[in-house]
Amino acid sequence: MSKSMLAVVKDSPNEGVSIKEIPVPTPKKGELLVKVKLASICGTDINIYNWNSWAESHIKPPIVIGHEVVGEVIKINGDNPQNLKPGDLVSSETHIFCGHCYQCKIGNKHICENVELFGIGRNGGFAEYATIPIRTSWKNDKAIPIEAMSSQEPLGNAVHVVTTAGVKDKEVLVMGLGPTGLCAVAAAKALGAKKVIAVNRGAYRRNLGKIMGADEVYDKLPQKYFDKMDVVLEMSGNETAIQIGFEAARISATVIIFGIPKDDITLNFGKYFIDKELTVKGVFGRRIWDTWITVSDLLKSGKVDLTKIITHRFAMKDFEKAMEVMKSGECGKVLLVP
Ligand SMILES: [Zn+2]
Ligand SMILES: [Zn+2]
Repeated sequence: MSKSMLAVVKDSPNEGVSIKEIPVPTPKKGELLVKVKLASICGTDINIYNWNSWAESHIKPPIVIGHEVVGEVIKINGDNPQNLKPGDLVSSETHIFCGHCYQCKIGNKHICENVELFGIGRNGGFAEYATIPIRTSWKNDKAIPIEAMSSQEPLGNAVHVVTTAGVKDKEVLVMGLGPTGLCAVAAAKALGAKKVIAVNRGAYRRNLGKIMGADEVYDKLPQKYFDKMDVVLEMSGNETAIQIGFEAARISATVIIFGIPKDDITLNFGKYFIDKELTVKGVFGRRIWDTWITVSDLLKSGKVDLTKIITHRFAMKDFEKAMEVMKSGECGKVLLVP
């Protein structure tokens, strides 16, 4: 095994990244060393690349970025309750939980009070090799296409959203078709929604919404759906879209909020929360590990085919080209091959 590797490094508090040779990491006690097979770029990576205020408050350069990965186990250092073996294909849960805070104790590891983020608060996986804590590694079933293994994070978010809402036999509105919105369409259909309607401004992702199984897609929600939807999944973070989602919710509907608005937003509190007696719930990340189990079942059974939203693939060394495509919004998931 060589001693150095290619990696995408955020090495200064400015826009951009460096693609360079760095030493192959050594796994600490409780960590795995994996050979990264595939990685995919997340919207968060655009924030990191652009170095916005979110990135500034979460990242201390230098750091190897990238958190959506699948890697082959090379070395295991420490207790191995999952009985992982070299050659297994593992993905990493992005939320590295502490295991002892109040939320971890009551079964909410995904909202751990001391969470550390893979590829954000510590070195991640846009590299030839990566170290992953054993406790946040997920052993993939080899029946699942490897392309899907690296993109389980958005599907996990979507499954958490959809299962929190409860969609069986319901008419579901998805506001926003970023990768997680696209996965929400697929998950809602797979989990028994009667009808899924999706709204997105860009035509490219409206088309992907259709491919993922939406019954109808719109640039702008038709008036006939106002006050009609049983379930609204807010995946956009856009103020106008959020307001339209609340307009579309029928009396006593369920609204799940996932997209994060950049700034404060205005909502008619009385009209939506009280007059309509809505159930409104925020969702963050994926439940560890129940969401992952559902994701794995959906992928294994073929009820969700994530490969349909993988639109681009680049060599890791061409990260800049991949980032261009990500920024254009004319893409689904973009994969990196080390
Ligand atoms: Zn992500
Ligand atoms: Zn914790």
